[in-house]
Amino acid sequence: MSELALFGGKKAIDRIDEELFKWPIITDEDRAAVMEVLEKRAMSGVDITRKFEEEFAKWNGTKFALGFNNGTASLLAAMYGAGVGHGDEIIAPTITYWASCTQALSLGATVVFANVHPKTLCIDPEDIKRKITSRTKAIVVVHYLAHPCDMDEIMAIANEHGIKVIEDVSHAQGGLYKGKKLGSIGHVAGMSLMTGKSFAIGEGGMLVTNDRDIYERAISLGSYERFNENEIKNEELRPYVGLPFGGYKFRMHQMSSAVGRVQLKYYDERCNEIRKAMNYFWDLLEGVPGIRPLRVDEKSGSTMAGFYAAHGRYIKEELGGLSITRFCEAVRAEGYEECAPGCNAPLHTHPLFSVVDVYGEGKPSRIANSEDDIRRFDENLTESVDLGSTIFWIPWFKKFDKDVIEQYANAFKKVAYGYKELLEGDEGDTERIGGWFFFKSAHKK
Ligand SMILES: *Cc1c(COP(=O)(O)O)cnc(C)c1O
Repeated sequence: MSELALFGGKKAIDRIDEELFKWPIITDEDRAAVMEVLEKRAMSGVDITRKFEEEFAKWNGTKFALGFNNGTASLLAAMYGAGVGHGDEIIAPTITYWASCTQALSLGATVVFANVHPKTLCIDPEDIKRKITSRTKAIVVVHYLAHPCDMDEIMAIANEHGIKVIEDVSHAQGGLYKGKKLGSIGHVAGMSLMTGKSFAIGEGGMLVTNDRDIYERAISLGSYERFNENEIKNEELRPYVGLPFGGYKFRMHQMSSAVGRVQLKYYDERCNEIRKAMNYFWDLLEGVPGIRPLRVDEKSGSTMAGFYAAHGRYIKEELGGLSITRFCEAVRAEGYEECAPGCNAPLHTHPLFSVVDVYGEGKPSRIANSEDDIRRFDENLTESVDLGSTIFWIPWFKKFDKDVIEQYANAFKKVAYGYKELLEGDEGDTERIGGWFFFKSAHKK
């Protein structure tokens, strides 16, 4: 192997093609769809959103789809739809974006955090079992970084205890678990469709479910113009239609739904291309010490959807204990400038979940409505706390361009095989790696 670029050698990557990373792909069809909404002054209606919902529900293999102004609202409505309320607990992974679970506090409920499995970065079913109490109402599972959760195991646990499963599909729209569409396996799913995500339409969110009661309860929270006698069949809701129970207004902006309708037509095809590129990248790195893919074997019928925010796993023991910080520094020098360790920081370590009294109840909100101090469950989450130093960002290719992908794979190979030279001058990792959200610079636009 040639000399590492960090020490003055030639960079492994000499062709940077911005087009390869641009997302979402925008064509004249998207432009025309947006212009049509503008010309019709239809930005605030629901007619286009309803069409988008119908198409989305069909594509997702669910009976109902309900559009939202963002994914955060769709997940709040999913919780409400699933019956989460005052004094209830939801179980959620500690490694995720805050909007998978934080909304529970506004329902008077609370969050019990669970570990994620270090190989899948998805909620660990064994830890779910340990965290179920008589107050558990729902489990939020996040198909984190597009990796499908162990749904067979999770559904079995939930059904045994009569608990609802809410899928957060924000990272994995269109992905499969053993042949089934993600978001169609749990009782309800919510997801972000904002521009940074894999299914990107602007700002927007979508709730999908096969359960009419969940769907109607979700409508009742913040979809006021649809909360009417024509649409609501549930006898417990019908007498009270007209005003949104949550006092929220959640409808999707129609420029977003118009873009969504166009994006949906091409989404699967574009994800196939992404997976072809990403799987090729990982195939090239097969057997390289210190590096493991974060992906699934597609022969199982599962997929990595659109490989949202693609990451790899780092095994420092195979590279003489080289810190991931130093490893990434050397990869950046090879020309992949966004290489960095980490993912979302563990939510339970933020003071919002230990001390902040959001609603003036004289107690931290996390335990304001509990009999039991569920913060004690946080003690066994140390594995998740260290997770940031075991995974690193990889390029998220949108196009299958063999030559460029090979260059990027070579950058990683060169550093992995040249690790010995890096040991000297390795200052180690900072204590905590990971942020509350992903910065734009972390993945190439
Ligand atoms: C982005 C994201 C959300 C929230 O979606 P918004 O559209 O940003 O409100 C929820 N969960 C996860 C896992 C996300 O990444």
